[in-house]
Amino acid sequence: MLGLETSCDETAAALVRGSVPGPGEILANIVFSQNEAHAPYGGVVPEIASRAHLEILDGVIDQALKQADLALEDVDAIAATAGPGLIGGVMVGLTTAKALALAMDKPLIAVNHLAGHALTVRLTDGVAFPYLLLLVSGGHCQLLAVENAEKFRLYGSTLDDAAGEAFDKSAKLLGLAYPGGPNVEIAAAKGNAKRYALPRPLLGRSGADFSFSGLKTALRQLVQGGDINGNDAAASFQAAVIDILCDRTKNALAMFRRDFPAVTSPCLVVAGGVAANVAIGSALTVLAENNDFNIRIPPARLCTDNAAMIAWAGLERHAAGACDPIGIGPRARWPLDPSDRGQGDQRQDTA
Ligand code: AMP
Ligand code: MG
Repeated sequence: MLGLETSCDETAAALVRGSVPGPGEILANIVFSQNEAHAPYGGVVPEIASRAHLEILDGVIDQALKQADLALEDVDAIAATAGPGLIGGVMVGLTTAKALALAMDKPLIAVNHLAGHALTVRLTDGVAFPYLLLLVSGGHCQLLAVENAEKFRLYGSTLDDAAGEAFDKSAKLLGLAYPGGPNVEIAAAKGNAKRYALPRPLLGRSGADFSFSGLKTALRQLVQGGDINGNDAAASFQAAVIDILCDRTKNALAMFRRDFPAVTSPCLVVAGGVAANVAIGSALTVLAENNDFNIRIPPARLCTDNAAMIAWAGLERHAAGACDPIGIGPRARWPLDPSDRGQGDQRQDTA
């Protein structure tokens, strides 16, 4: 399966081989991050992103084929992110996939970017359905039960910012370079997390929704107050995020147990770019262990946006007999759980 990913600021192509339930084999996984193009703005600029995708996607696909030592004819089907995401970028990837599918007479598989994140642990570990997913990325923050490759049950979602967005905006406030998440983690490791008292919205409430905007505002006020220690502020911010993520996930573990009592060895899966944060991963590991859940966190390069996850999600859909019409359109919003009203993509423009 050839997979293409262009929904945000990564231009990516990958080739994946395998069969359901996985694990699969990654033959090539090329990711071109447009960080340099967006860095001056401190966030992703949609128009710059779509133009950059258009310029480099062909070359990225060529590179992936070379790395896998395959020709386009060898590919069984072509998968591309069809949403949710920045619409211009999604159009570039999906239209390229359509052109290749038409020219090569191959099936086209439209993939939900979030399903790509959700199914990555099957590519890496062959984790069996159902499992609980904490999806924490630049555009999303959700807790869902993954029942199969097409069926997801939403337990909670952010009411405002995504977790990665909170990291990126906080980094900007602290004067750390874009993309901020990894830099906040580095600064936090050198700081005192108890130095500044920051709020933890929704903590202790029922349900599994998230909120980060109050935390971000408090950090802004702290910074505007002047004369702060940046490392201590980063550590205090990260500690607040960890508390929020663990508290909300704890409730979702109970919801999952209630909904799937027959699952004897339940698994918590963490996906999305923020899952690359080691402190967050450790805290969630302790939480899972204390609640008799296994935990799986894919390697960082498969947590941040990539096309191997899109190829794998396409492979799962293809194996289930799916094939999409050439007229299928790109979608800016596309929630995994149809009952999720309007939260398919929480971020349109972070700059
Ligand atoms: P994605 O949207 O899945 O590509 O993930 C990108 C998001 O993950 C961005 O908001 C990053 O700031 C965030 N991110 C990446 N690495 C880390 C990290 N080590 N700690 C916190 N956030 C991170
Ligand atoms: Mg993503």
